[in-house]
Amino acid sequence: MRDLFDSTREEAQKELEFLARRIRELDVAYHQKDSPLVTDAEYDALKRRNDALEKLYPELIRDDSPSKRVGMTAADDFSKVTHTVPMLSLGNIFTKDDVYAFMEKIRRFLGLPETEEIEMVAEPKIDGLSFSAVYEKGFFKVGATRGDGSIGEDITANLKTIKEFPQELKKQNSDGTVFIPDLIDVRGEVYMSKQDFFDLNKSQEEKGGRVFANPRNAAAGSLRQLDPQITQTRHLSLFAYACGQVHSIHWETHSQFLDYLKKWGFPVNPEIKICKTADDLVSFYENMMEKRSSLPYDIDGVVYKVNRLDLQNRLGFIARSPRWAIAHKFPAEQAITRLNKIRIQVGRTGALTPVADLEPINVGGVVVRHATLHNSDEIERKDIREGDFVVIQRAGDVIPQIVKTLPEKRSADSRPFVFPTVCPVCGSHAQKEGEDAVIYCTGGLVCPAQVQEGLKHFVSKEALNIEGLGDKNISLLFELGWIRNAVDLFYLEEKHGSELMARDGWGVKSAHNLFEALNRVKKGVPLDKFIYALGIREVGEVTARLLARNFISFENLRSQMRTEKAFDILTHIEGIGPVMAEYIADFFSESHNEILLDQLVQIIHIEPYEKKAGRITELTGKTVLFTGTLQNMTRSEAKSKAISAGAKVVSGVSSKTDYVVAGSDAGNKLSIAEQLGVPIITEDIFNQMLDDL
Ligand SMILES: [Zn+2]
Repeated sequence: MRDLFDSTREEAQKELEFLARRIRELDVAYHQKDSPLVTDAEYDALKRRNDALEKLYPELIRDDSPSKRVGMTAADDFSKVTHTVPMLSLGNIFTKDDVYAFMEKIRRFLGLPETEEIEMVAEPKIDGLSFSAVYEKGFFKVGATRGDGSIGEDITANLKTIKEFPQELKKQNSDGTVFIPDLIDVRGEVYMSKQDFFDLNKSQEEKGGRVFANPRNAAAGSLRQLDPQITQTRHLSLFAYACGQVHSIHWETHSQFLDYLKKWGFPVNPEIKICKTADDLVSFYENMMEKRSSLPYDIDGVVYKVNRLDLQNRLGFIARSPRWAIAHKFPAEQAITRLNKIRIQVGRTGALTPVADLEPINVGGVVVRHATLHNSDEIERKDIREGDFVVIQRAGDVIPQIVKTLPEKRSADSRPFVFPTVCPVCGSHAQKEGEDAVIYCTGGLVCPAQVQEGLKHFVSKEALNIEGLGDKNISLLFELGWIRNAVDLFYLEEKHGSELMARDGWGVKSAHNLFEALNRVKKGVPLDKFIYALGIREVGEVTARLLARNFISFENLRSQMRTEKAFDILTHIEGIGPVMAEYIADFFSESHNEILLDQLVQIIHIEPYEKKAGRITELTGKTVLFTGTLQNMTRSEAKSKAISAGAKVVSGVSSKTDYVVAGSDAGNKLSIAEQLGVPIITEDIFNQMLDDL
């Protein structure tokens, strides 16, 4: 490679073009075809070269630059995308008879004789997350989740991080030029392969991060990340199989469309088959069921679609499901295994949650080791006992559940499970609280389990985000007696720094990184993050933000919470109910917490809320909906202005909506707003309301 500074601007431009193409090619080979063309080192060298050139000529950075696949920042929250053509949901069938009935119904509807074949396309139904990806003139513009079918979440930046996702439709194919439509909304499924799922969970476990129940959850959790850089680190894959709106191109059959998808560079499932009869469909189903566990990805059934588009159009829709397609679902996957032990976990709030430790068993390609038992009532109701053989079920996106126990396989000395009346960790009395069936440890700060869970929450990503302190490390430091509460964390370096660096599995570097992360926190933490980190019962991120917005500074919040009026002050805030108010007021009046907070405010600089969001406008705290076309700004501009003025932007109108901003050609939402009596304002008035008060 040439020396960087020898490159002229023109040469750099050419080279960047080459690099964009080459790196994409390598990505496809590596990820899609699973056959790397170069070594990792060579690949990295190309990426570095690309970065260096871009640094030298920032004006030459291409839209499809490999560097743009990382570091894309997403908004505070997902913005919404309206699907021009709704994303369909399919009707479900479960038996072979249903397949014949489905075909018969189609035949009757179309008035076709028995003798005439209706060509069908059969596809495996990928158990992932649906996406829509809009391409204009062949370039990827907007990506969204299915959402409710009409409005999804904007995942444009996240999709771009998936290696096999085409950012540009391929124009050239081995057999000639491929036509690129002016506009097309390609749809498909993002999934995580079983192997990538296992790998991810393994590394999450090591880091003490979140472990996912199944590949579908992992894919959803990875794709729906506000930070696309996280999506980037997860290995996601996809199959395309449908389209929404499309301009300037036409095909006769669904299989022709699939061919286009392949030519444009989309992964299309290799198992897809054309079937001529209902018998063919049934044997496709049986074949896929057999293949299921050996496929590299999870499927939860198969889908049958009428191949001819003219027939599809004639068949149309019933409600929101097409008449021309149906999902034939596999039965929920069940297996029988032994329940070795019922373990009681103690959470941050002291809730005792029973978990079944199972003899590991493979259920549809996923090894199941634990199942949820929910609470003591459920164990009693199902009479689940330690040592029982139980039927477990894994269905879609839920954690494996115990369907029933098999009492006939019980040994003679089997005894009903007795739910503990004391906390298994600290021995404190355990009791039911309120209406729900949950039993809580009353130990509070005496309970090591509650304290550790509280510390894990304190340092978690959504709270103070102290990297290098996963669950395992918290437990370790706690057991060593080095950290007993949140304050101890900040004395870790001073008191145990050298010991920590000398510990096996730690080393100087990771200890330093941890101390650095802690020092960063000392320098400044946004008020809402700090409130959330305290782990006050019922106070999630949204409530924490609400408190921050209302009290502006932590001093103010504390001093108001110390007055007798604390409860009243809180319940006057919209969004805080009496139960939550009670928990919050209690938290601040608890003497242990007072001592801890006195110390924490000395150590940590808690940034007042105004610094970040700052502004108080007429729209602050209001719920706003946009409809129609605005004249002087785009919809997303308007949304971000509203959000930065402290408003909440919603996509559905209800009586809770404060204002509807109506542009030209406003549709249905405007009339609903009128019926509900929601104030409707113009773009001009909206602009005026954005002014600081
Ligand atoms: Zn306890």
